[in-house]
Amino acid sequence: MNFESELKKGKFLISECNHCKKIVWPPSEFCNQCLKENSWRKCSPIGTIIEFSKKENTYFCVAKFENSIKIIGEIISGIPKVNGIVKIVDCGIKNNNYFFKMTSKMLSN
Ligand SMILES: [Zn+2]
Repeated sequence: MNFESELKKGKFLISECNHCKKIVWPPSEFCNQCLKENSWRKCSPIGTIIEFSKKENTYFCVAKFENSIKIIGEIISGIPKVNGIVKIVDCGIKNNNYFFKMTSKMLSN
């Protein structure tokens, strides 16, 4: 399994250590903590916004996924707020850069 070839297909995988269960980011075949082999699985698409900014008319955010990894994404719908929820709706590789598109949802009671 290859992280980038899967990302190109719109699948966001993360590497997790078989031994100590650490999520290793950036993705790698081996754990950076105990040096054992990692396995690949799909990342949860739901994350929490840590910070965001606005450039021209587009919001960008840094969000945390699986309580561990930080991803920069473009907000394609909704207005972000710190600690708000985002969902990855699209991802891939464009011009050799990873991209993640997210929607920002307000929590409603
Ligand atoms: Zn490990």
